[in-house]
Amino acid sequence: MLRPISIYVHIPYCFHKCPYCDFNAYAVSAIPEKEYVSALLSELDYRASLKEWRARTVQSIYFGGGTPSLFQPTAIRKVVAAICQLFAVHDNVEISLESNPGTLTPDNILGYREAGVNRLSIGAQSFQRRVLAALGRMHSPDHIEAAVEAAKSAGLSNVNIDLIYGAPDETIKEWESDLQAALALEPVHISAYGLTVEKGTPFYLSYRKGQLKLPSEDHVIEMMNLVNSLLPAHGLQRYEISNFAVIGREARHNLAYWNGDDYLGIGAGAHSFNRIAAQKPDSFGTRWSNAALPAKYIEEAVAHGQAESWHDELSFESAVFEFFFLGLRKIAGISVKAFEQRFGVTVETLYPNLLEVLSSEGLIKRSNDNIALSERGLLLADSVIENFAHPEKKVRVERPTVTIEVPEPSFIQTRSLE
Ligand code: SF4
Repeated sequence: MLRPISIYVHIPYCFHKCPYCDFNAYAVSAIPEKEYVSALLSELDYRASLKEWRARTVQSIYFGGGTPSLFQPTAIRKVVAAICQLFAVHDNVEISLESNPGTLTPDNILGYREAGVNRLSIGAQSFQRRVLAALGRMHSPDHIEAAVEAAKSAGLSNVNIDLIYGAPDETIKEWESDLQAALALEPVHISAYGLTVEKGTPFYLSYRKGQLKLPSEDHVIEMMNLVNSLLPAHGLQRYEISNFAVIGREARHNLAYWNGDDYLGIGAGAHSFNRIAAQKPDSFGTRWSNAALPAKYIEEAVAHGQAESWHDELSFESAVFEFFFLGLRKIAGISVKAFEQRFGVTVETLYPNLLEVLSSEGLIKRSNDNIALSERGLLLADSVIENFAHPEKKVRVERPTVTIEVPEPSFIQTRSLE
């Protein structure tokens, strides 16, 4: 039985580019919504004609960006309807939409709900006017509160609030107020990410010139500890390094990434991964990304149904590293049995010494079928996981062959919104 897939739809437009942002997002004053939706529909049509996608059930759809909430609900509805028509979509599909609170109104929230969206992710980042200004955000705390209330009135109870800590000059007191303000709105999910200064952004230039004053490392660790104690105390369990949810409201789409499942990325710069479409016998999956510039993406997707600009076959070593790199982000860690099924070799065979060392240093926890980062390991996650980049022992393994049986279209259970 083939595992279900997730579909990511990238909307690359924003009204304004935040100075810390290195996403594939472009500030525009007028959005070519109609042309962009045509390109998305054309790409969906093409991918659905390929058996490695058509034979699969869609378990989640995610509109990310950029700012998807700049699109009209009718545009979102068209894309959701096309996916439901072209693919076998699970009855219980999760449909998420990322939003900027300054763009949300009771009307468009209701429209998204009617278009099929059942999970709203609100890019709040902070509830302090000073911090929002320092991050170059255009919305106010009032916008966030109004958006959460409007979502609840529209029957959208599955709400995520995104927060950023470690902003310029941010104090621990400000961060604690942010967490309290977010909790007061009773979301079922909170993502809390530490600010990273990415190359090529205005923040990076200011940082290099010594003009950006960021909290010290000790302060950032204190902020991180505050998240890890405060959110679980209010019923939001940590299930990934930076993600917290009421049990049962974990983001299914993001879990699919961390579980290494296949996903189809549609839109400018979107990435895809498919294990069964591997194009070489020693490949453990194929991945690609689309042209990043929206105009080029639109032109190519409309003309050819696809706009691939980069393609890679995953080697055994890279696939093994990704398994740990993604899986160990989850608090539950990785399944040893799943590893063996996928790679035909045991973890101990590849890392005979590493597991012992990490265990004795108190960085990982091991049980029969499970390896997970310990509390200490989670604090040092990046450097612990980096150790899995090179298996200690070279082995020769064969990629398992998968036969794809594609049901006739009439037997595919589709979920239609129209
Ligand atoms: S709104 Fe989000 S995607 Fe757009 S520029 Fe700001 S951080 Fe980047």
